[in-house]
Order: sequence, then C-alpha cells, then structure tokens
Amino acid sequence: RKDSRGRIVGATVRDELTGDTFDVRADRVLAAAGPWADAVRQLDDPGAPTLLRLTKGVHLVVPHDRLPIRHAVVMRGRDGRMMFAVPSGNCTYIGTTDTDHHGDPAAYSITRWDVEYVVDAARRLFPEAALTTDDIIAGWSGFRPLLKPAKEADPSATTRDYKLFHSPSGLVTVAGGKLTAFRAMASHIVDDLFPATRSAAHLAASTAPLPGAQGKLPDGGLKRQLAAEVGGAERLIDLLADRYGAALAQVAAEAREVAAPDPELRWRLAQARYAVKAEMAMHLVDVVRRRTDLMLFTAHNGRPWLPALAGEMGALLGWSEAQKQAEIAAAEQEIDGMFAWRQEAAAGA
Ligand SMILES: Cc1cc2nc3c(=O)[nH]c(=O)nc-3n(C[C@H](O)[C@H](O)[C@H](O)COP(=O)(O)OP(=O)(O)OC[C@H]3O[C@@H](n4cnc5c(N)ncnc54)[C@H](O)[C@@H]3O)c2cc1C
Repeated sequence: RKDSRGRIVGATVRDELTGDTFDVRADRVLAAAGPWADAVRQLDDPGAPTLLRLTKGVHLVVPHDRLPIRHAVVMRGRDGRMMFAVPSGNCTYIGTTDTDHHGDPAAYSITRWDVEYVVDAARRLFPEAALTTDDIIAGWSGFRPLLKPAKEADPSATTRDYKLFHSPSGLVTVAGGKLTAFRAMASHIVDDLFPATRSAAHLAASTAPLPGAQGKLPDGGLKRQLAAEVGGAERLIDLLADRYGAALAQVAAEAREVAAPDPELRWRLAQARYAVKAEMAMHLVDVVRRRTDLMLFTAHNGRPWLPALAGEMGALLGWSEAQKQAEIAAAEQEIDGMFAWRQEAAAGA
C-alpha cells in the first residue's frame, strides 16, 4: 500500500488459514521473504532487478545402523564439493546438493540425480556400508536465497552473506544470509530500520536463551521418573529431552491426558497436543514434518499414526470428520512427495 507520493505505508495481507484479507498500516516495511525476496520486491517495483541466486539443496536420511557414525563427517562429491554425514537420533542424514534453480521457489522436489549424487559420495567415503538408494527413508529439499554474485561463480562459491536493499518507495528488502546467524542479523536489521531505538536491552534480547533452554534441563532422574509414569523406551525419552529441553515436563503433562495403549503413541499424541497448545500448529502435516521427528527421522514417516494424531489435533481444533480426512490426505501426499524420485528411471537405465 502506497500513499499519494508513492511512499509505502503498509501492506494488504491475507490470512492463509481463514482466507480473510485485511490492511496493515506501518511506518516501515521490511520484506524478509527468503527465496521470495525478489517476488515481494517486484510487487513494489515490477522493474526492480533481481537480487537472488537460488540454489537447491537436498538432504537424505538413512537409518543410523546403515551409516553408524558418532560425529559429523565431511564427505566429498564426485566433483570435489564438500558435503556432510550427520548423526541425528536414530538416523544419519547426508547431503547436501548445491545446484542452480530458476523459477518458482515453491516448486521444490528431490530428483533421482540429487539422490544418486549424494549416495555416491557416501558410498565412496564409507564403502563398507554399501549404501544404496533403497536405504533412503526420507529427505528434504529447499532453496538457498543467496545474493546474486556480480560475476559468474560456482554455486558453492557464492557468498552466504546478506545485504539490505532500500527501494525509492521506502521498502527495505533483506536478501541472502544464514540461519545460524539469524539473531545477529535480526539485531543489525532492526538497528538499521529503527536507529533511534538502538539499546543494550535489545542486545540482551538477542542473546537470551531460546525456548526450552531456560530452567532445569531434564536429567537422568527426571527421565527415569517419566519412563515409569508415562512409559516409553529410554531412547525415545532421550530424543524427546534433546528436542524439548526444559519444556519436556509440559509435553509429559500432555502425555498424562491421552489414552493410548502403546507408550510411544502416547508420547506422539502428547507432542501433537503440545504443538497445538504451545507452538500454534494448525495442520497435521506441520506436526509430522516440523514439530516432531516423525516424517523425516523415522522409518515409517509417522504414516501409521496419522489417523490417531489427526484425531487428537481435531479434538483440540474442532475439526469435522471431513477436515480430519483432508488433513490425513495432505500429510500422506507430503510423505509420498519425498519419494517421487523413485518413479524416475535410474541414470543410464
Ligand atoms: C539446503 C539448504 C541448506 C542450508 N544450510 C544452512 C546451514 O548449514 N547454515 C545456515 O545458517 N543456513 C543454511 N541454509 C540457509 C537458511 O535456511 C536460510 O538462509 C534461512 O532459512 C533464510 O531465512 P529467512 O527468514 O530469510 O527466509 P525463510 O525462512 O525462507 O522465510 C521467508 C518467509 O517469508 C514468507 N513469504 C514469502 N512470500 C510472502 C508473501 N508474499 N507474503 C507473506 N509471506 C511471505 C515465506 O512463507 C517464509 O515463511 C540452508 C538452506 C538450504 C536450502
């Protein structure tokens, strides 16, 4: 939204959950849209030059006993690029690729080429594991919003730094950057946009412990107590303690509210309840993909528990039977999407 002089004074936004549209007035407008930074900037100025070079990164997951490493290990692709194998819970994940992507940032996918490139690196570093594409139990793909280099450069040699761009309308766009540096980046950006409010209190906010890191972290005593009260294997409780930190006690409180004969399912339903109540989760696919390790770090991808999880979420969110079924179908589609590359012919086949 612009005033009569063309200065940006806010935005018209749509709530994706309800479809409602409304106006937000603002003194300053920052576009922090990741891979969509150019698309948002071009809403303000259709002729604005593009800032980003999108590169696709694919990670793959195998059961930990197929690649039983204790620490992260550097691997090399057949082209010499650096990749990693990282142990995570009951799995090891390997990757990533780094290839240019032109087009819609929402059109992410894993191709057979991606899979073979990553598995090939793991096979060469760990020949005795003899990993094959059949070992893959999950994977994910995303686009890095990298700053477009002035000169042609290899995708992996492109800077991971970020920059702010000020448009004549007053719109500020952040492009590039890294997740690990997000707090420093956010603090610099807020200082840039609001120099008058720069203060030590803001800096303290950017170094405060993250949720779950405040208060008493679960120790052996608490874990044993929870295993006795709620049930569940020691390994599962360790993984939950790593994920939730001090908030594990709240998840356990939810576990006491659910009725399920299988102790693991009891914890999984408790996670779904916690995601809805404390983390604003609104969709089943969000719970299985992001709020828990189910989709990406279990061999069954959470599939057998989708109806029970949807039932638990639906009871809290007031879903009809039709909504519940639609949530299950959407989650199944997302899980199937991870394996679409299996339909492609193998290279050279
Ligand atoms: C494979 C891969 C590996 C990576 N590895 C690392 C790593 O090891 N270390 C590291 O630090 N970083 C890594 N990154 C980079 C990191 O993930 C990104 O830099 C970071 O997520 C960018 O955060 P962001 O908030 O800027 O963008 P995003 O997290 O993409 O958020 C942008 C948001 O804007 C929203 N949006 C877009 N358009 C609109 C619109 N019109 N209206 C409303 N909302 C909109 C989107 O829905 C999205 O939620 C990696 C990225 C990839 C893909």
